[in-house]
Amino acid sequence: MAEFDAVIVGGGAAGLFAAAMIGRNGGSTLIVERNRQTGKKLLITGKGRCNVTNHCQPDEVLKNIPTNPKFLYSAVMGFPPAAVMDYFEQLGVALKTERGNRVFPVSDKAQDIAAALEHDAKAHGTRIVRGRAAEILMENGKAIGVKTAEDSYFAKNVLIATGGISYPITGSTGDGYTLAKQAGHSIIKPAPSLVPLVLSGSEAARMMGLSLRNVTLSAYEENRTKPVFSEQGELLFTHYGVSGPLVLSASAHLRPDEGRHYALSIDLKPALTEKQLDLRVQRDFADFANRDFCNALEKLLPAKLIPVAVERSKIGAETKVHSITKEQRQAFVRLLKDFRFAVKGFRPAEEAVITRGGVCVKEINPKTLESKLVSHLFFAGEVLDCDAYTGGFNLQIAFSTAYAAATAICQKQTERN
Ligand SMILES: Cc1cc2nc3c(=O)[nH]c(=O)nc-3n(C[C@H](O)[C@H](O)[C@H](O)COP(=O)(O)OP(=O)(O)OC[C@H]3O[C@@H](n4cnc5c(N)ncnc54)[C@H](O)[C@@H]3O)c2cc1C
Repeated sequence: MAEFDAVIVGGGAAGLFAAAMIGRNGGSTLIVERNRQTGKKLLITGKGRCNVTNHCQPDEVLKNIPTNPKFLYSAVMGFPPAAVMDYFEQLGVALKTERGNRVFPVSDKAQDIAAALEHDAKAHGTRIVRGRAAEILMENGKAIGVKTAEDSYFAKNVLIATGGISYPITGSTGDGYTLAKQAGHSIIKPAPSLVPLVLSGSEAARMMGLSLRNVTLSAYEENRTKPVFSEQGELLFTHYGVSGPLVLSASAHLRPDEGRHYALSIDLKPALTEKQLDLRVQRDFADFANRDFCNALEKLLPAKLIPVAVERSKIGAETKVHSITKEQRQAFVRLLKDFRFAVKGFRPAEEAVITRGGVCVKEINPKTLESKLVSHLFFAGEVLDCDAYTGGFNLQIAFSTAYAAATAICQKQTERN
């Protein structure tokens, strides 16, 4: 009855790669993909350039995975970044390594990664059909296929690689959770991660469009003095709050959705100590001694930030610079080194790079990615309750888990023969 060795739900990074790996081992696979094209999300990764992995050792990958790194240990060890890089280079996609060990195709085209994956899967016999899987077919506690609105597809194994709920326009709308639940699996509540942050108050909106480069962003949980995140980089003010690479990275460390409260602190001049910045401000103040305070900051701060900084300083905007006291000046310097905002929450999943939460890993065998509840049912990629920081680590999770599942599926085949 089983037509294929594996039917794979989802033709994203994990699904395509698993199909290619099973095909390379002589197995037959069918991908059921709801979109007209495969790899729709891959095309928008890394701003269209696809940060395909991180050129680092496997233990470094695990350090960049805040949720369930132990579960991923054997998958990442079994198919580390070096293996991902070898794979794409062997397919003819030349790679380069950039800042922070981020690996991209030399062409800077995510399309090259997506096309190489689909081509490799097809070259090894994978059939791709369009359809939205709505049900896992099971018999005696064993997965035997999937059902779409139009058809049923039977296979010896079923692999769910449907992704999470982030950027649902790419096809990942959380169907994998429904399918997993149907098989009796628990779902850890999905939430957005690597997502812009909404700030309290209206200051961010007043600074909308302002991009700050080379600032240090630190995030503090309420009543804590040690930051949960602190890094230098670039951020952007928007009508709701803040976005940009630094903010997305920070968001992976925050849990406002769990009722926790955070403050963001921006060090606007991280290259200068408080003392050095004070000397710098003194120089500016000396140059503009007879100007109003609000007109004396143009060399120090971007225009959109000045009215907000002046307001926060409590030094009147029209105060003559020569009359600003030493205490006022020093407090202003401290403000520039610790410009705080209260975090109101995350932006929605539609704007999140990845999903935190998903299929509970306690019910999955970490070596094979097979369900502990239903035999011959496998999971790979973002559908699992695993997520990583930015840097190519999320695609690495997709490839490592897909490889482990593909290997286990092929192993089952060998055992049977
Ligand atoms: C804007 C953006 C940029 C990103 N950049 C990077 C980056 O540079 N580096 C990095 O490591 N990670 C990046 N990520 C994260 C990365 O893209 C994901 O973690 C990765 O694609 C997950 O792979 P996946 O195969 O598990 O899921 P997806 O790639 O989401 O694939 C799931 C597939 O399943 C299909 N599907 C869903 N439900 C069904 C169903 N019921 N029936 C049939 N098909 C179904 C979907 O249509 C989709 O094609 C980025 C994400 C976003 C949104």
